[in-house]
Amino acid sequence: MITLFIFTIGIVIGSFLNVCIYRIPNEQSTIFPPSHCPCCNERLKPLDLIPIFSYIFLRGVCRYCGSGFSPRYALVEFLTGIVYVVIFKKYGLGVEFIAFTYLMTLLIIVFFIDYDHMIIPDVVVLTGLVGGVILIIYQYIHPISFYENPLSLIIGAFTGSGFLIFVSIVGMVAYKSDEVMGMGDVKIFFPIGIFLGWKMTLIALSIAVLTASISSIILIGLKYKNRKSMIPFGPFIVIGTFITILWGQELFDLWYQFTFGNY
Ligand SMILES: [Zn+2]
Repeated sequence: MITLFIFTIGIVIGSFLNVCIYRIPNEQSTIFPPSHCPCCNERLKPLDLIPIFSYIFLRGVCRYCGSGFSPRYALVEFLTGIVYVVIFKKYGLGVEFIAFTYLMTLLIIVFFIDYDHMIIPDVVVLTGLVGGVILIIYQYIHPISFYENPLSLIIGAFTGSGFLIFVSIVGMVAYKSDEVMGMGDVKIFFPIGIFLGWKMTLIALSIAVLTASISSIILIGLKYKNRKSMIPFGPFIVIGTFITILWGQELFDLWYQFTFGNY
């Protein structure tokens, strides 16, 4: 029952995330005007805006002009619901749940905006930092077992971002180009690093780099992309972070055992 409740909260928030994903890159307000059909501009009534269900009942078309809505709206809602439920199953209802759903909510926005536009908006990074600072303060007052100590969060802010700055400086020198790595990728690792702590940030970064490399090789192999084309890194950062939230400690232990043998 509580699982269903959390899923419902997830899809309702997912519905707002659609608005953010659609409007933030166009520098529109996410609150005003209220939702309208992008084709006929008709203002959508509450019945048109029930997450997932409206999409199914209206068969994905606007009730007023008949133009199709992208199935991605329903996908984003469903995905947000699933992410919330999975985090709940792993951590129960507590500070970790609040912290990780907060982070993942922002990262779902990052995933789709970076995929569409190859940018990570500053407003998302800043919202993440606000939550991160609250988490650091909370960790000082009320230590959460997920982190070794409060310093881990502060160091974390500079772990992933520091590494990416290093990579982009090396890349700039090696390729004599001024943009190897988007600054958005560097910036989003400030809040991610705080929420994960430095050790888990390294795991998330490793997964992101690994999955991005494998995908690039596959995409270039299938000739969908060539060596020169840019592939957004943000979606891989999001995937890496989510996997780390779920299995970071297990992956760390596995890596440790592999590297240093039994301990
Ligand atoms: Zn319409």
